[in-house]
Order: sequence, then C-alpha cells, then structure tokens
Amino acid sequence: MRNIQHNHVCGVVPSHILTRVAEHTEDEASGTARATLEHMRELATGRAATLIERPTAAAAPASARSRKRRHVFDAQYTFRLPGKLAMSENKPRSTDVEVQEAYEGSGATYDFLYDVYGLKSIDGRGMRLDSTVHYGTSFENALWTGRQMVYGHGDGRIFTRFTASVDVIAHELTHGVTQYAAALGYHGQTGALNEHLSDAIGIMVKQYLLGQNANESDWLIGAEILGPAVKGVAVRSMAAPGTAYDDPILGRDPQPSHMRD
Ligand SMILES: [Zn+2]
Repeated sequence: MRNIQHNHVCGVVPSHILTRVAEHTEDEASGTARATLEHMRELATGRAATLIERPTAAAAPASARSRKRRHVFDAQYTFRLPGKLAMSENKPRSTDVEVQEAYEGSGATYDFLYDVYGLKSIDGRGMRLDSTVHYGTSFENALWTGRQMVYGHGDGRIFTRFTASVDVIAHELTHGVTQYAAALGYHGQTGALNEHLSDAIGIMVKQYLLGQNANESDWLIGAEILGPAVKGVAVRSMAAPGTAYDDPILGRDPQPSHMRD
C-alpha cells in the first residue's frame, strides 16, 4: 500500500460555518464551535494526540480483499483514537445508534463503490473501514483523518449527531478514495474538485441505498445533521447551490452555483 501522509483535514462542516457559530452565539454554543475549530487546526497541523496515536494501517490479506470489513470504535467522549472496539462483522450488533449508523453508512459506501465501480474498498485493495464515534464531548464535525472516519456528537441544537446522514459518511470516505486514487489536495481548484467528488459520490451512495433515481433525490448533503435551532435544510444543496440555509447564526449559504462565482 502506498504510504501517503495527509495532514489536511476536511470536515463536512467547513470552517466558515463554525466561525459563524462561534461569532453569532453565546456561552456553550460559541465555546463548542471554537473548541471544534481549534481541534480541527490541531488535526491539520498534526498537533493533536489523535494523529500520534494513529491506528495501524488496516491493509487486507489477499484472501479478504473482496470482503466488506468494518470496525466501529467508541472514543467514549475523548479525543483518543481509535477507541474501544464496539462493532464489527465478527461482533454482535451494538445497541448504540451512532455505532450502528457509522457501521451501516460505511457498509453502504463500500457496497456502492464495489457494486457500481468494482472498487474493493476505498483503496481498491480491501482496506478495512475504521470509524470512531463519540469523539470528544460535543465535537461538531465528521472527518476522514487519512486513516479512518471520526464522528462528533454535535451540540444537539445547531448540529445533531454526525452519523445521521449517510451522504456525509460517504462524502468523508470518498476523501479516502481520492487520497488513494489521485491524492488531490484540499486547496484551490484541486480542493474544489476533491470536495465535489466527495459530494457527488456522497449523494449517489444515498440514492443507491434508498433506491432513488436522480429526480427522486433531494440532492442535499447533510440534511439530517442540522439541529433544531437552525433555519435550513442541509449543509449544502447540490440541486440549488446557495440555498441550503439562511439563518441568523449560520448566515446565508455561500456555495456558488457557477464557475464564474
Ligand atoms: Zn470534504
């Protein structure tokens, strides 16, 4: 397996949204957004304990390359990765909803990549899909670290649990596909292409799972992760970019709908 070290971190909630939350709320909500932004910066610069304790690469033996293998860990509200193993193909089903959703969502992504593209896991070589839930106390993001998936809880008001949207799970796992296939960066044009691929695969995984065609799809990214305190329908709208939310806290969705913008 190619050993690619990535310190870039894409969270499904971009920093401009978290900055808005930090600046337009008070007390707990503001503190939570600030703490999330600071932790994202630590992850990006490799200062977080998390990246020092990276799990060992989960390369598959040749015999297992076309089998779906998932491990879901529970960080038990710490920032330590990967945490305690909570569910796998060889373990009884967990009763924890976030564990279940991380497991099912990574499975749906695996199935789509394999059934539609013949891709054996995200590296094409049967890599085990590792996820950690209950990351931190109210961490407001979901992200791919370069090795595994990480999911926060959200604060329950502005963001709910980040495992709730399968397109968010598939978006982040697709950063893994891009990392192994093309190693696109996270800045400028390549960054935009990287993000777009993740949104496109993300929504297709949801459509595939629900048996929807293009007309039936809502084309929304993160429709289930916005909390009750936010006026909006999702983090991004692929059908109508720039209309996902218009809210006193988050501001207006700035997503451009055309290259000229
Ligand atoms: Zn992304």
